[in-house]
Amino acid sequence: MIRKNIQILRESIENKCKEIGRDPAEITLIAVSKFKPVEDILEAFNAGLTNFGENKAQELRDKAEKIIENLTWHFIGHLQTNKVKYVIKAAEFIHSVDSLKLAKEIEKKAATIGKVQKILLEINTSGEETKFGLRDKNEIYEIAEYCEKSENLDLRGLMTMAPFTDNRETIRESFLTLRKLKDEINGDGFKLEHLSMGMTNDYLIAIEEGATMLRIGTAIFGARNYT
Ligand SMILES: *Cc1c(COP(=O)(O)O)cnc(C)c1O
Repeated sequence: MIRKNIQILRESIENKCKEIGRDPAEITLIAVSKFKPVEDILEAFNAGLTNFGENKAQELRDKAEKIIENLTWHFIGHLQTNKVKYVIKAAEFIHSVDSLKLAKEIEKKAATIGKVQKILLEINTSGEETKFGLRDKNEIYEIAEYCEKSENLDLRGLMTMAPFTDNRETIRESFLTLRKLKDEINGDGFKLEHLSMGMTNDYLIAIEEGATMLRIGTAIFGARNYT
């Protein structure tokens, strides 16, 4: 089932890329394995996926410790400063940096293990109060400038979640906002490369708007059981 899902998803991504003239090789497919057992992760790995995303700090740590295969882990959930210690070892990327305080804690923990931590800034592009993410431009630039000077933080791009809606244009607007923000920041001398956006229900729009990292769970592993 998982193998078949991945095959269908890959074809869908490739077809979309062909349609709009993008190279599928510039898009990283991150399999969001939250709430899913290690066996499912291994099944996806055996079907060729190597990038996995988790949104709970301890769950990422536990899975990363259990699985000996060489997986690339992405932390994509809201991160409290007191839980940075759980993800710092395993996470190749932390997608959800949303405050200077958190950036400083990540820097501190990365320094203690001699690591340069790749991070993305999570941006609230929907204006929804219930969503995490940065909204204030000054704050965004403040963190970006802090990362420039830091030896242990490597700011690589931006991440967002589209609003909960069926309105395709509202979703597109959100992704477009992220892309424009990246271009604006790069226009000021930064070198951001990644746009982490697009989930099961909106990844095709995200590809059209320039996503370089897709975070997809349900389309790969099936529905999650939260109980
Ligand atoms: C759960 C989650 C996803 C994946 O969602 P699906 O709709 O299952 O593809 C992507 N990004 C974040 C931040 C998530 O928490």
